[in-house]
Amino acid sequence: MENEKKEQSVAAQRKEQLFLQKKHGMITIGAEETMKADEFCEGYKNFLDHAKTEREAVAFTIAAAQQAGFTEFDCTKTYAPGEKVYVNNRNKAVMFAVIGRNGTKNGVRLGIAHIDSPRLDLKPNPLYESSDLALFKTHYYGGIKKYQWPTVPLALHGVVVKKDGTTVDVYYGDEESEPCFVVTDLLPHLANEQMSKVMTKAFTGEQLNVLIGSRPFNEDKESESVKLNVMNCLFEKYGITEADFMSADLTMVPADKARDIGFDRSMIGGYGHDDKVCAYPAFMAALDTQMPDSTVITVLTDREEIGSDGATGMKSTYMVDFIADLAKADGMELRHVMARSTCLSADVNAAFDPTYASAFETNNSSFINQGAVITKYTGSGGKYSTSDATAEFMAQIRRILDDAGVLWQTGELGKVDGGGGGTIAKFVANWNADVVDLGVPVLSMHAPFEVVSKIDVFETYRALFEFYRA
Ligand code: MN
Ligand code: MN
Repeated sequence: MENEKKEQSVAAQRKEQLFLQKKHGMITIGAEETMKADEFCEGYKNFLDHAKTEREAVAFTIAAAQQAGFTEFDCTKTYAPGEKVYVNNRNKAVMFAVIGRNGTKNGVRLGIAHIDSPRLDLKPNPLYESSDLALFKTHYYGGIKKYQWPTVPLALHGVVVKKDGTTVDVYYGDEESEPCFVVTDLLPHLANEQMSKVMTKAFTGEQLNVLIGSRPFNEDKESESVKLNVMNCLFEKYGITEADFMSADLTMVPADKARDIGFDRSMIGGYGHDDKVCAYPAFMAALDTQMPDSTVITVLTDREEIGSDGATGMKSTYMVDFIADLAKADGMELRHVMARSTCLSADVNAAFDPTYASAFETNNSSFINQGAVITKYTGSGGKYSTSDATAEFMAQIRRILDDAGVLWQTGELGKVDGGGGGTIAKFVANWNADVVDLGVPVLSMHAPFEVVSKIDVFETYRALFEFYRA
C-alpha cells in the first residue's frame, strides 16, 4: 500500500482528500455487516407481512415492546432513567419512550416514522350487486397511480366495531388457503378507448371496485341474492350485518407477502415499505436503546399519506402532550424541551431508477445500496412546504453517523420542478425542534409492490440507533 500511495499523482491524492468518495455500499461496509443486514431483514419481512395497516403495526410493536419490558405510560407516575414506557393512541399510532439519565432537561431525541400506507379503503356503504356480481365500493387512501391496483390480489384488513362496542378484527385473504379479492380491468381487445386516454383519466376512483362474490344465496328468486350470499358469508364468519360497515375501518391491501428480489437476494419487494421500512428500524433501535443521556422517543404515526390531519396524525398534539407530561415530571416547560430537541423524521426517499432516469438529477439522488438517505429538505417548487434542516443540525448528524461508520448518502426527491412531496418533518419542526429526514431509498414508491435494499434497511436502523445514543 505504501508504494502504491507514492505512485499516486498529486491530482489523485488531492481528489481523495477533497472529493466525496463513492463506491458500492457493500464494498464500504464489508461482508460481515452485509450479512448482519440480511439477518436483520428477515425480521423486517416478518413485520411487513404482519403490519400491513397502522392498526396491525401498533399491535405488533406493542406486543414486542411489552416483551422487552415496556409498560403503558401512566401520567401520574414519575419514571426513573432507563425505564421504558409506551403510549397507544387509538390503536392507530404509538409512542415508545426510553427515559434518559437527564430526562427531558436537554431536550428529547425523537425518531418518527409513519405506519399508514396507500391502499383502497372501503366506503361506509360498500357492498352492492351488479349483473350478478357482488362488489365493494372503495375510496383510495393516499397517493396512488390508479392503474397499478386492478388485477392485483387483495386482502381485507381492519376492524368492525359493532353498536354494542365489541370489535371484530378482520384479516382475510393473505393466506394461500384463503380466498382473495380483485379489482378487474378491461381486456386489451376492447380497450381502444381506454388505452387512448391519458393515464390520470384512464382509471377513475369509482372504477376501483373490488370483486368479492358471484354465487346467489340459494335458488329463491329474490333480487340481490349474490349480495345476500356475500353478506351471509360475512355474518357467519364475523357476525356482522350490512349496517356494521358504517362503523368500520376496513381496507383492501395487496395480499402478497414480502419476497427477496434479485438472484443475489439483495433487495426486498413488498407492500407498504413506505414507511414500514423506517418504522421497523426505528422501533428496533428503540428496543436496543438502554439508558440514553436524553430521553428517546420513537413515534410510529398514522395519516402521513393523507397530510397528517386527524387525532392520530402528526398535526395532532398527541406527541407534544406526551412530551409535556414527561417535561412536567422534570420541572420543565414543553417549549423549553422542544427548543432543545432533535428529531430524525424517518421516511423514505425515491431511489434513482435507471429506467426513469430523466425524473432524477443524479448528483442529488439517493441510490439503492448506498445506505440511509438524509433528505435536508422535501417540499416542491421553490422549497415550499418544507422545514429544511439547518447546516448546524446537518453537521451534527454527519458527525454522529460518520463516527459510528454508518453508510449514508444525501438525496433530493427528484428534479427541482419535477413534482415534490413532503413528510412529517415540518410538523415537528413547527414545534421549534431541529428535524431532518432520514430513511430508506425506495423503487416504485406507493406501488402495491415496492422495492428496497437490505443494506439500506439495516443502515437506517444503525443511523437511528446511533442518533438515539449520541
Ligand atoms: Mn412516507
Ligand atoms: Mn408515502
